[in-house]
Amino acid sequence: MPLANCKECGKLFFKVASDICPECQKKEEEDFNKVKDYLREYPNASLSEIMEATGVNEKKISKFIKAGRLSIKPTCESCGRPIDSGKLCPECRMKLLREVKSVLNPGSTKEQEDTFLLEYLRKKRA
Ligand SMILES: [Zn+2]
Ligand SMILES: [Zn+2]
Repeated sequence: MPLANCKECGKLFFKVASDICPECQKKEEEDFNKVKDYLREYPNASLSEIMEATGVNEKKISKFIKAGRLSIKPTCESCGRPIDSGKLCPECRMKLLREVKSVLNPGSTKEQEDTFLLEYLRKKRA
């Protein structure tokens, strides 16, 4: 068995199937169950609500989602309504784009725009 550094805590461990050590794996399962239980009760919870309620960080939750173990409906970061993809619903996106038009780089891609808008939204709230 090859020795490897745990991707989570950095400790050396004997790598079998996972990138993380047995201890972190156990912790991860606990986190997973917390999130799963919460979603059973609140199936339409948004990512931020889940993080707040369970204390599990975004990185971990995205990992579960990527692995196909969880599915979370994305919700608009601005108004909170469920959306098909992305971070903002079309209405909020348009509204925000209008607000930032003067400072936004004209050649921005859609991704750059989204990043900019989310950053703007966060600053606006803070
Ligand atoms: Zn570890
Ligand atoms: Zn919205």
